Amino acid sequence: MSGDGGSDTLARVISALWRNALAAVAPPGCFACGASAGGALPLCPVCRDGLGWLSAETVCLDDGSGSSVEAWAPLAYRGGAKALTRALKFRGAVALADGMAAQVVASVPTKLDEGGSLVPVPLHPARRRRRGFNQAQVLARAIAARAGLELADCLMRGGAGGTQMGRDRDERLAALAGAMSVRPGSSAPARAVLVDDVLTTGATLLACAAILRAAGSEQVSALTYARTPGR
Ligand SMILES: [Zn+2]
Repeated sequence: MSGDGGSDTLARVISALWRNALAAVAPPGCFACGASAGGALPLCPVCRDGLGWLSAETVCLDDGSGSSVEAWAPLAYRGGAKALTRALKFRGAVALADGMAAQVVASVPTKLDEGGSLVPVPLHPARRRRRGFNQAQVLARAIAARAGLELADCLMRGGAGGTQMGRDRDERLAALAGAMSVRPGSSAPARAVLVDDVLTTGATLLACAAILRAAGSEQVSALTYARTPGR
């Protein structure tokens, strides 16, 4: 009975130790293609050269409610930038955040983050529990440290609205705004710069901006590591 179970456990432990030992000596391959890579960001020279750098131009998010949000991202969400974003979010590679933050800080338009406080887009609590961290917060903390900006982790997300599937845009916005609030004991900064990993539809950023403005923020802009093409 327990003899076999014990050796199974021992085999698992040895295998885990062996994997960790290998990971410690073998340099990590390129996160996008698997070729050998080095440096602060694990991308090979080809994937690094292929990064889709965007201009300093911001995009204007507008849901027709009259309050728009200027948003900016350094990179297009494809190739190496997509691989790093997904590794941070789904593989828990939080060590990547500092290198990603360096890419943001190197090219952020000054008008966007001047004197602002960085506000991470909150993750649904169930998702945060499963993942163990909020990638937007990890990224915001790294950017704040590099740029010497304040981190204001003042938003929270609750309620049952965990998924955005199967709703039209207006319903999604209303559900998102209903699920967001300012954390008890926190206040909304006068100049808020929302931070998230990827800008896709902008619905989440607009919902966060509406909550921040209602709580007293005079200016709200947004900063993401990458944005999908066409945004
Ligand atoms: Zn590569």
